[in-house]
Amino acid sequence: MSAPEAALPPTDVLVVGAGPAGSAAARVLAQAGLRVLLVDQQPLGRDKVCGDGLIPDAHQALARLGLLQQVMAQAERVQHVGCIGPSGGRIDVPGSLAVLPRRQLDEILARGAIAAGARFEQARFEAPLLDGERVVGAQLRFDGESRALRARWTLLATGAVPKALQAAGLCTRQSPSGVALRGYVHAPAMVGRITALEVAWTKAVRPGYGWLFPAPGGHFNIGVGVSDSHSGPAGRKKQDVNLRALFDAFVAAYPPAAALMREGQLVGELKGAPLRCTLAGAQFTKPGLMVVGEAAGSTYDFTGEGIGKAMQTAMLAADAIIATADDAAARARYEAGLTELAPKYKLYQRANRVNAFPWLADLLIWRAKKSPRLLKRMSGVLEETSNPGNLVSFKGLARLFLE
Ligand SMILES: Cc1cc2nc3c(=O)[nH]c(=O)nc-3n(C[C@H](O)[C@H](O)[C@H](O)COP(=O)(O)OP(=O)(O)OC[C@H]3O[C@@H](n4cnc5c(N)ncnc54)[C@H](O)[C@@H]3O)c2cc1C
Repeated sequence: MSAPEAALPPTDVLVVGAGPAGSAAARVLAQAGLRVLLVDQQPLGRDKVCGDGLIPDAHQALARLGLLQQVMAQAERVQHVGCIGPSGGRIDVPGSLAVLPRRQLDEILARGAIAAGARFEQARFEAPLLDGERVVGAQLRFDGESRALRARWTLLATGAVPKALQAAGLCTRQSPSGVALRGYVHAPAMVGRITALEVAWTKAVRPGYGWLFPAPGGHFNIGVGVSDSHSGPAGRKKQDVNLRALFDAFVAAYPPAAALMREGQLVGELKGAPLRCTLAGAQFTKPGLMVVGEAAGSTYDFTGEGIGKAMQTAMLAADAIIATADDAAARARYEAGLTELAPKYKLYQRANRVNAFPWLADLLIWRAKKSPRLLKRMSGVLEETSNPGNLVSFKGLARLFLE
């Protein structure tokens, strides 16, 4: 059944995509009294292939949305990111961390938008509606029927698959910047044995990384990922990598992963998905339209974390729309907000050099183990309480080894 004509309400902002980015923007906009229509091609309660790790930026975004408590009531709390180097050295960096399967997290967020007054409809974005150069809404497909929806603003929060970006003429890079694969393992016997967000840059998974994250209810999220900038000068490229083979190599080479697979049961299938990182691959705005979240490349390279920054970029766009009725001023404000985030992305991108030169990772872990000051600094970067700017330069990186 298609949505009847009369059911499409007057809309100030059409938000396309009910992932963390779209739902965060919809909630903020609806709280400000704007009429928001949030659409997703999938029904509420859909799953998303992800590691489900919530790092400090996600905690901060959820706190701003007023949804942190609700999320933490269901999530597994975690105290450290465990960084495991190519030679097996390990450093545990403290931080505000958690794990909650995306099916649950995204439903809390979408329902948070609805509770604030946004309407939700299941519909697919087909193309922007244009009035000259300006986007004035979208052509949406409701269960078989295509309908035009007019809105003052359209936010594209459509994630890493570039189809909607392409339809809007805003995709500047077709291929993803990374790919990753995850599975869920039910292993009650491993509870208490894997307690950190373990990210392992073991030699066997080069040019990628593997992870083990403790989820609620005796479940664990296990996966592998690889991004373009992981490969060193002579490294393999992500398109040469078979993720399933990389996953098997990770399990064989990393003893806690082997123990998890031995002690537990895989629940469902291993699933892969693309990543769009480092604020690259899309034009961020055009008159009447803003691109937010992973569609704008908001995921961090190196670790593939993107939930927090998806919400943060989307709230930047929402704030800009709320702040001014002037289209150009709102777009400029949003783009300036993204520019301010750039040093954080540069840091994660630069960290990939560590992956290309494994001895550097080993050295860094060895240094951090001996230097509480360095560990504190790493924790500050993770918590986003330290400015990463000075770490982005080679000089800054060199200083890490001297502290
Ligand atoms: C294997 C893997 C592991 C990851 N692990 C982590 C992790 O542990 N921690 C972390 O922070 N990040 C992780 N990420 C990254 C994280 O998943 C993304 O950064 C995050 O989902 C981006 O949120 P978003 O709202 O921008 O997009 P999404 O969550 O992808 O949401 C986009 C929504 O748009 C909808 N949509 C798309 N096209 C249309 C259309 N044409 N019409 C209507 N709706 C549409 C989709 O159905 C979807 O619901 C991982 C990614 C992968 C692939």
